[in-house]
Amino acid sequence: CGIVGYVGPRSALGVVVEGLRRLEYRGYDSAGVAVVSDGELHARKKAGKIANLDAELAAHPLPADGLGLGHTRWATHGGPTDTNAHPHVSYDGRVAVVHNGIIENFAALRTELGEDGITCVSETDTEVVAHLLAQQVAAGVDLADAMRLVCRRLQGAFTLVAVDAQGPRQVVAARRNSPLVVGVGEGENFLASDVAAFIEHTRDAIELGQDQVVVITDSDVTVTDFDGAPAPVRPFHVDWDL
Ligand code: GLU
Repeated sequence: CGIVGYVGPRSALGVVVEGLRRLEYRGYDSAGVAVVSDGELHARKKAGKIANLDAELAAHPLPADGLGLGHTRWATHGGPTDTNAHPHVSYDGRVAVVHNGIIENFAALRTELGEDGITCVSETDTEVVAHLLAQQVAAGVDLADAMRLVCRRLQGAFTLVAVDAQGPRQVVAARRNSPLVVGVGEGENFLASDVAAFIEHTRDAIELGQDQVVVITDSDVTVTDFDGAPAPVRPFHVDWDL
């Protein structure tokens, strides 16, 4: 139900969990976070309130690196369990994905993955996206190109945010019928389902249009459509208070 992504000099864990807290008012049943450190993904996720995730993070701390993403879930496919909570990590441990919305054709995609020997461990509609992206990056495709390719195959409503632990230092996101905004900082950038997640850090924002993919790095924001063509960027300034 809430999504946060971050790349920059601060601890992504801190920025992401604080952002998720600011989205709590939307309601949720589970929460999770993933951080990239030294080419590896580290994920923690728990059913229940963010306090449960805090307890998990206290027991099993995450590195303080500056590339990560997080999610508060409002379950649509699969009950509110730790396994069904997001992020979902790919079969090879390389790609982590969070998702708001519903992937309507997930069953067909899951069957197709099964034919490739990949088994989903959760009951969500989301997990297939992690594996589909991982198949592409394993074949040498950049995560942004993989996202465009995979999104063209998805039906339904989605805000997706993903990281590739072995790829360039970037967070990649996409949207269709579900909100996504970029927070533009200095030497850092943010992704969220709602500006509330990042306005304590920046009030310069970009609203993503329908069927667009955005890549954020420490210094750049690049927006394209699902075919890779550059898309018009819609910047705005958040001059209201929450
Ligand atoms: N459909 C996904 C799930 O059930 C995402 C739900 C959400 O928007 O939080 O896991």
